[in-house]
Amino acid sequence: MKKLIIGDDIVKSFGEGGEQRNVLDGVSTYIHEGEFVAVMGPSGSGKSTLMFALSGTDGVNGGKVVFEDKDLSTLGENELADMRRTKMGFVFQQPTMLKNLNILDNIILPSMRDNRKNAANITSKARELMKRVGIAELEKRNITQVSGGQLQRAGICRALMNNPSIIFGDEPTGALNSISAQEMMDIFSEINADGTAVMLVTHDAQVAARTERIMFMRDGKMVGELKLPKFAGTDMDGRVKKVMVKMQEIGI
Ligand code: ADP
Ligand code: MG
Repeated sequence: MKKLIIGDDIVKSFGEGGEQRNVLDGVSTYIHEGEFVAVMGPSGSGKSTLMFALSGTDGVNGGKVVFEDKDLSTLGENELADMRRTKMGFVFQQPTMLKNLNILDNIILPSMRDNRKNAANITSKARELMKRVGIAELEKRNITQVSGGQLQRAGICRALMNNPSIIFGDEPTGALNSISAQEMMDIFSEINADGTAVMLVTHDAQVAARTERIMFMRDGKMVGELKLPKFAGTDMDGRVKKVMVKMQEIGI
C-alpha cells in the first residue's frame, strides 16, 4: 500500500522564548492512500494541531510532512494552497457557511471562485453529491432552515467538490446526536469505499470504531494504535469494545 501522507518526527511549538511548549512532540505517523483512520486523545493532546500539520495548513517547527511524495516544506504558499484546494477536503464540527446564500450556492462557492467558466459542471457536480448524501431536495433552503446533520452533509459535499485524495474531519460529528453521527459515518464510509482517504479526529468511540485504524495521542505524542478490519456493517459492539479497552489500556 502506498502512503499518501507521512509525518516524520513532527514538532510543533507555540509560545515565545522560555514559555515555548511542544504541542506536537516528535510525532511520526502516516496515512495510506484510501485509508480510513481516526485520531483520539484527550482535549488539548494535539489532535487538531496534527491535522493542521499533516494538511499543510500550518507549518511545523521540526521534522517533516510529505504529501503525495512532496515535502511540504519545499512548497511555496501558493503551491501549498493549491494542493489543499485540489487534493484535500475539510469538514469541521460546524461548517462555515454564508447565511445569505442557499445550501447549493454555499457548496459551489469555493469552486466557482476558482473557475467561473465551468459553472454548469460545478452545479451538476454539486447536485450529484447532494443527491448522494440525501439532501438533494434542500438546495434552495437557507442554511438556517436545515438541521445540523443536513448542514454537515452540505459541508461534506463542499469538501468533495474537487475529488480530493483525502477528507480531514475535525470532530465532524461532535455537534450531532448519536443517530445523526452514525448517519454521517455511513457517508464517510461510502466516500472511503470510493477510494478517498478519510482522517477523523473524534472523542467518540462509536465513531472511531467505524474506521480501520485508530491513533491515540496524549500530551503531543502518539501513544498507541488500534487496527480493525474494514467495517462491513457488522459487529459494531465488538469494535466499540475494542476501542474502549484500548483507551483504558493507555489511560485516555
Ligand atoms: P486537541 O485538538 O487535541 O484538543 P489542539 O491540537 O487543539 O488539541 O491543541 C493542543 C494544545 O496546543 C492545546 O494546549 C492548545 O491550547 C495549544 N494550541 C493550539 N493551537 C494554538 C495556537 N495557535 N497558539 C497557542 N497554543 C495553541
Ligand atoms: Mg481539537
